[in-house]
Amino acid sequence: MAFSATQTFAMEGVVTSIKPVHSLVAAIIDGTGEPQLLVKGAASPHTYTMRPSEAGMLEDAKVIFWVGEGIETFLEKPLDSLAGGAKVVTLSETPGITLLDMREGGAFEPHSHGDEEHDHEGEEAGHDHGEEHADHHHGHGKDMHVWLDPENARLMAREITSTLVEADPQNAATYEKNAAALDERLGKLISDTEKTVEPVRGKPFIVFHDAYHYFENRFGVEAAGSITVSPEQMPSAQRLQEIRDKVTELNAACVFAEPQFEPKFVNIVTEGTDARTGMLDPEGANIDQGPDLYFTLVGNLAKSLADCLSGAE
Ligand SMILES: [Zn+2]
Ligand SMILES: [Zn+2]
Repeated sequence: MAFSATQTFAMEGVVTSIKPVHSLVAAIIDGTGEPQLLVKGAASPHTYTMRPSEAGMLEDAKVIFWVGEGIETFLEKPLDSLAGGAKVVTLSETPGITLLDMREGGAFEPHSHGDEEHDHEGEEAGHDHGEEHADHHHGHGKDMHVWLDPENARLMAREITSTLVEADPQNAATYEKNAAALDERLGKLISDTEKTVEPVRGKPFIVFHDAYHYFENRFGVEAAGSITVSPEQMPSAQRLQEIRDKVTELNAACVFAEPQFEPKFVNIVTEGTDARTGMLDPEGANIDQGPDLYFTLVGNLAKSLADCLSGAE
């Protein structure tokens, strides 16, 4: 090799939207640079507002990774009017990725998982960002929490790798090596998660917002409903009543809160029922950013589900 570690050209100007995306990019770029992150700490992408300094970060960016329209709503306009020459990678459009439809209603209708997925291949360039969307959370009618299926994360990691290799061919070997290690680790995460949730399959539970369908679909668990229609809006009294009836009717074992949002709705829904409460964090609010975040995030989801649901009969 002609390069020693100190001579390696640093990869700068890689910007990521949310913590799970940052985590995957950080794992692949490791040793050559560090990606920047927009939605930091415990902020939720659904309610995020960008600061002027972050707009500047976008203008200086070389590559921007985001999930896509309908989830990082705050990025839609800035990416439309981007004056800098950044390459924008929309990870929900990764070829071969599983895309699920949004579920409707407070209490989800029973449905099968086999025929919900479709291939997004070929749609890559066809998005008109100027279009008005009736409801931004329901981007294209698809559920945009795609990262919560680790098989999707594997495909996204490939997309990230090829993008970085193209943007910075000098460090191609590092990216390929990191990507191989990441893929192996994701494979192990999938088998570990299977084992963790296996004992609680079939136990009904309620989630705070409809973020977990990808996790459920991959690992064979199924939420019976969600408290909020979309996390940008407070649930109505009617919605809370509907969910509370569902908790009683199903004898739901657990109702899960989220660290980004008020726990009071969970208390309203479970009051006077036998349901236990737990915490699920779909975006890594309470986890330090970095390459390990993705693994902690998925591991915590599995553990929270198993702990809460196994404690109940
Ligand atoms: Zn969400
Ligand atoms: Zn489902």
